Amino acid sequence: MASATGEAAPGSPPPAPIEIKRRLATVRSTPDSRDHAHITVTPPICAKCPHSFCTIVCPAKCYERIEGRLVFRYEDCIECGACDIACDQGSVRWTLPRGPYGIRYAYG
Ligand code: SF4
Ligand code: SF4
Repeated sequence: MASATGEAAPGSPPPAPIEIKRRLATVRSTPDSRDHAHITVTPPICAKCPHSFCTIVCPAKCYERIEGRLVFRYEDCIECGACDIACDQGSVRWTLPRGPYGIRYAYG
C-alpha cells in the first residue's frame, strides 16, 4: 500500500509505474517559432532512411511516417535528446531552445 506521500510502505510491493502518457501530461512546454525550432530534420536524408529509428525512440511521438514521408512536430518535444542519438543518418540537428522557450518539468 502507498503512503500519503505516494511511496510504498515498507514490505509492500512498489507502486505500478506511471504510464508515459500520464507523465507527459505533467510537463509544460512553450514552443519557439518555427524559425527557431530547436530540432530540425533534413527531409532528403529522411526519405532514404533505412530504419526510421526516430519514430521508435521518441516518447512524445514527434516523428511519424505518413504515407512514406517523415512528419516531424518539434512543438511536442520534451527535450530528452533520444532522437539525436538514434539518428545515425545525420538528419537531426538538435540545439537547446532559446530562453524562455522550451520545456518545464513539474518535478525538476
Ligand atoms: S532516423 Fe534520422 S534519417 Fe531516419 S527518419 Fe529519423 S530523423 Fe530521418
Ligand atoms: S528530443 Fe526526445 S522528445 Fe524531443 S523530438 Fe527528440 S526524441 Fe522526441
